[in-house]
This record gives sequence, structure tokens and C-alpha cells, in this order.
Amino acid sequence: MSTNIPYKIYLEESELPQSWYNLRADMKNKPAPLLNPGTHEPMTAEELSPVFCEELVRQELDDTTQYFKIPDEIVSFYKMYRPSPLVRAYCLEEKLQTPAKIYYKFEGNNTSGSHKLNSAIAQAYYAKKQGLKGVTTETGAGQWGTALSMACSYFDLDCKVFMVKVSYEQKPFRREVMRTYGASVTPSPSETTNIGKKILAEHPGTTGSLGCAISEAVEVATSTEGYRYVLGSVLNQVLLHQSVIGLETKSALDKYGIKPDIIIGCAGGGSNLGGLISPFMGEKLRGEADYRIIAVEPVSCPSFTRGTFAYDFCDTGMVCPLAKMYTLGSGYIPAPNHAGGLRYHGMSSTLSQLYADGLMEAVSVPQTEVFKAAEEFARIEGILPAPESSHAIKVALDEAKKCKETGEEKTIVFGLTGTGYFDMVAYEKFHNGEMDDYVPTDEEIAASVAKLPKI
Ligand SMILES: *Cc1c(COP(=O)(O)O)cnc(C)c1O
Repeated sequence: MSTNIPYKIYLEESELPQSWYNLRADMKNKPAPLLNPGTHEPMTAEELSPVFCEELVRQELDDTTQYFKIPDEIVSFYKMYRPSPLVRAYCLEEKLQTPAKIYYKFEGNNTSGSHKLNSAIAQAYYAKKQGLKGVTTETGAGQWGTALSMACSYFDLDCKVFMVKVSYEQKPFRREVMRTYGASVTPSPSETTNIGKKILAEHPGTTGSLGCAISEAVEVATSTEGYRYVLGSVLNQVLLHQSVIGLETKSALDKYGIKPDIIIGCAGGGSNLGGLISPFMGEKLRGEADYRIIAVEPVSCPSFTRGTFAYDFCDTGMVCPLAKMYTLGSGYIPAPNHAGGLRYHGMSSTLSQLYADGLMEAVSVPQTEVFKAAEEFARIEGILPAPESSHAIKVALDEAKKCKETGEEKTIVFGLTGTGYFDMVAYEKFHNGEMDDYVPTDEEIAASVAKLPKI
């Protein structure tokens, strides 16, 4: 093992992954298939293709092909902001006086500010290749909409984003980044769709929800010639594209003969974590190595730690296929004071199966602790982290502090998924002491889970 490990381990451009790794190929217990919400039969490619791009449907349903070659056009785009650095957190180790060795993979070095661009560019590419005119999607906080608008402008595709009305009004800067890249951004619910009109008639003055925005985006995609709907997390295809994070991380570590003991990531819909852990989990599944893998989620949206492993709707509008996953129920909405992101009610079906099989752990953390960790990290390592990413920071700090007590020299790797520049309202709440740690009661969760579809 080399002792001279640099602060930043960069890969050469020529070392960029040339294929995505499909973790499902190495799973003995495959994730359960998506089901048609009407018939409860597995969704076929024919049923999925009016909604999603053909090649993406193929990737979604393929759980046997180990590697998918990354098309040259996507590799060229990746070269503009990848490989992303793997940073050795020497300053943090010093400050904590821990014998632990801490590394983080930083995905916030692109204009969209997060890892979401890795899948956005792939989805835009396949839409273009199919000869489509454009794509539709929803966005809540705005990271996905921003990433997708960048990707669509690169391939000269139209991009229609339905942005939850409250975010549209409260996050004007995200909105303007999307418009800079040529996307049209519509506050949801809107008068431009039937479902939007219906919701507005029933709930005048509503500030919208992710579920409603999904329903509007799907309606436009399926009723407009040459359009399809795209999604930024949860789906198998998104985890496949995000495997680029894990493959780069592994190559960088291998260069210096480093083997991690613990791998930590935040979990919203599961795409960054699924991507980061993929090659490591692959080794674990094939019996070649062992790692502790920890998913971190908010106490206010605890799908892994307090959810039920069952079939559920992927959206509040109940228009999308059913997925078997750890879920809090598709009607579950985190407390209004929740500011840290990761507010999706379910979890990727691939990660859900791995968790059910005992191959990974999950913990939930309160948001005030998350922001404390974010501030500590910003002050020591210099990077202003996204609140979502700070969930992983919090648990990495906890594990490093444990090593200080036990004297163990563990190697910890965590995913730093993005920057927090557009989240300063949340930081402001924290600084003003206006943030609390609402923990949902068992009754609230039970009431939401009671509405799961009966399969
Ligand atoms: C969207 C997002 C997440 C959570 O999504 P996953 O699909 O769970 O990865 C985490 N961090 C950042 C910065 C994000 O934008």
C-alpha cells in the first residue's frame, strides 16, 4: 500500500468508465418487477414505451446484462465534468483526531450542482436517438430539472419541466438556471393539463406537490406527439447510469491499493447510493469482498427504517406503475418544517431488495444534526454541502468519532452528492433556530401505509 495518498485522487480522462455496471445482474434475489396498476401483471416493454424512451425501457427491464457500453456521445459529455474527484479528507481527520481514513466522492462540480446530471445526459441522449422532439418531467427542489435542462440543451431537445408551485415561487434562481438552458418551466398545478385544471378546481390556491407535478408531466408526455416522460431517481435505469460514480471511486481507490471498510450515502430515491455502492456491492454479492454499506435517511421521511416492504405507487397521483419497495405510502408527506430534501415516500426497488436481504444497513438522522454536520464540514473541508449530502456527512462523522474511541483505523468512503448554494433558505432556518426535528408517530405512518394497494 502506498503511503503518499494525495488530497485529491483524480483519474485520467482515459480512465473514465466505458460501461455502466448493472448491479441487478449479480443479484440472486432480483428486485421485484414493476406491475401494471390496473391488472397487477408485470409491466411489458410495450406498456412502458408510450411513457418512456425505448432504450431506457430495455435498460429498465434488463436484470441479466452485467455491463452496458456508454455511448461515445455520453462519454464526451461526461468528459466536461468527469472524472469527479475522490477527496481524502485529511483536514477533517486532523480536526477530529481520528485514526479513521475518510474519503468523499464529490459530485457537485457541475453547474447543476449534483450527481443528477449523470443520468440526465443519458436519458436525453436516448430520447434524441429515438428521434423524439422533447421530454417532460417534474422537479421539486429543482436539482433534477436543472440537470435535465442542461442535458436537453446539449442534444437540442425540448424540455418541459413541471415545478411544484411552492418551489417555483420560493426558488426563483433554480427556475432561471433551467430557463437559461432553454427549458420551459411551468408551476404545478397548472391550467395547461386536464389533471392540473381538475386539481385547481378542487383545491383552489394549492401550492402543489411532487405527485401532482408527476401526473401533469406524464399527461403531457403521453398526449403530445414526439414526447416522453423521464424520471431522475428510483428507477433501475437511473441506478445503472449512476454506477459511473461507484466505478470511478473504485478505480481511484484501486490505484492506491485502498480497500474501504464502510461506504456511506444519503438515500432519497436511492440513485446516488445505488450508483456509489454498485461495484462494491457486486463484489459482495459474488463473495469476493465484504463491506459495511450504510444508507442514511431523514427521521422525517424514514422509508428504509420505518417503512413497509410492499408494492406501492411511485407517485401520489397513482398513474405510474407499482414498484415493490420500502415505502411510507404514496400519500405520505414529510412535516412542513422538513428542509433537508430526501422527501420521497419510497425507495429504489433494487436497494430495497438488498436491504431486505441484509446486505446493507440503514439509519435515520434528525435534520438539526444534519445541518450541524454540514456546517462542521463546510468550515473544515471548505465545501458548502447540499442538505441531502449532509445526511451522509453526519454518519461519516459519527463513524470517524467511533474510531477515535476504539482506536480502529477504518477506511470510510462517503458520497458528497452536491453543493448547497441553492439551499440557503434551509441553512437560514437552521441559523435562526427555526428548525425542529419532527418525528412522525407510529400512528401517522400506519395510517399512510394502510392505504397501500392490495396486491
Ligand atoms: C436528488 C438528490 C439526492 C437524493 O436522490 P437519490 O436518488 O437518493 O440519490 C441527494 N443529493 C442531492 C444533491 C440531490 O440532488
